[in-house]
Amino acid sequence: MTATPILQVHNLSVAFETPRGVVHAVDDVSFDVARGETLGIVGESGCGKTVTALSLLKLIPQPPGRISQESRVLFDGVDVLSLEGEALRKIRGARVAMIFQDPVASLNPVLTIGEQIAETIRAHKPVSRAEAREQAILLLDRVGIPDPAHRYRSYPHQMSGGMLQRVMIAIALSCTPDVLVADEPTTALDVTIQAQILDLLRGIQDEYGMSLILITHDLGVIAEIADRVIVMYAGQVVEEAATETIFSQPAHPYTRGLIDSVPRVDQPQYQITAIPGSVPPASNWPSGCRFHPRCPYAWDRCETEPQLERSGSSSAVRCWLAVDTDKATE
Ligand code: SF4
Repeated sequence: MTATPILQVHNLSVAFETPRGVVHAVDDVSFDVARGETLGIVGESGCGKTVTALSLLKLIPQPPGRISQESRVLFDGVDVLSLEGEALRKIRGARVAMIFQDPVASLNPVLTIGEQIAETIRAHKPVSRAEAREQAILLLDRVGIPDPAHRYRSYPHQMSGGMLQRVMIAIALSCTPDVLVADEPTTALDVTIQAQILDLLRGIQDEYGMSLILITHDLGVIAEIADRVIVMYAGQVVEEAATETIFSQPAHPYTRGLIDSVPRVDQPQYQITAIPGSVPPASNWPSGCRFHPRCPYAWDRCETEPQLERSGSSSAVRCWLAVDTDKATE
């Protein structure tokens, strides 16, 4: 018997009221995350990845945001979107935690980093100040911050970007969440520190047995750490597959374009090919297949919108080439 996924997202659609009209940022997105699994969500900026992540914990300000009535986010069987107040707070941070790209913006500049970790611990656990302090120091040690008892008293401005991201991970881990959502956690860091943070995430995931949702525009990061990948374009899921399959047999032209635009260190002569054009604004998604203005394979049929076609339990693609085998082999 297959275990129930820890997180199930069904038909998530998110729109925003703006002075220029309604913007449909996320459109009918569905996916599952198994216990202990790392799911990568990849796509260029403006494809709806972050809005999807924020919606999982109802962190979209409503208004101007609006999560559709049909949307469901089931965490351990409970619909997070139907929760309010204390019931929602018990899940946020304690069972599903988030870390963001910019740790400086997420930390309070007038509190020490230790106080901020201890505060989070006390918000979710009935422990004394002294116990929270002790646990915070252990967490700083776990995320690889040297001399943690001393660093407990440091303010955010006294630490580097890589160290601050470790602090954010310590805060996220403070209540041993079941799911950690990491939105571009390494984007602002140089490659060496990026590799260290990915190693750290992998290590703590093994140790804590938690699930990880990693949101990134960087396929290199996905290749390093994800078990399964969802590719988003223009607010929709356009492909889903195991990481190995995504890289060896990408089915959607957008996925192929993303892979072709990544430099290959193993092939020095490799020619990088950028995807022409850019992601259209969410206020004006193209009709038909939303990728058609940038797609080298577009033909008449692409004027009609393709549906996400599933094959097996964990593969899906939204492209007419996947159903029109004659065209695919031309
Ligand atoms: Fe390209 Fe057509 Fe497939 Fe869209 S449906 S990705 S335009 S081939």
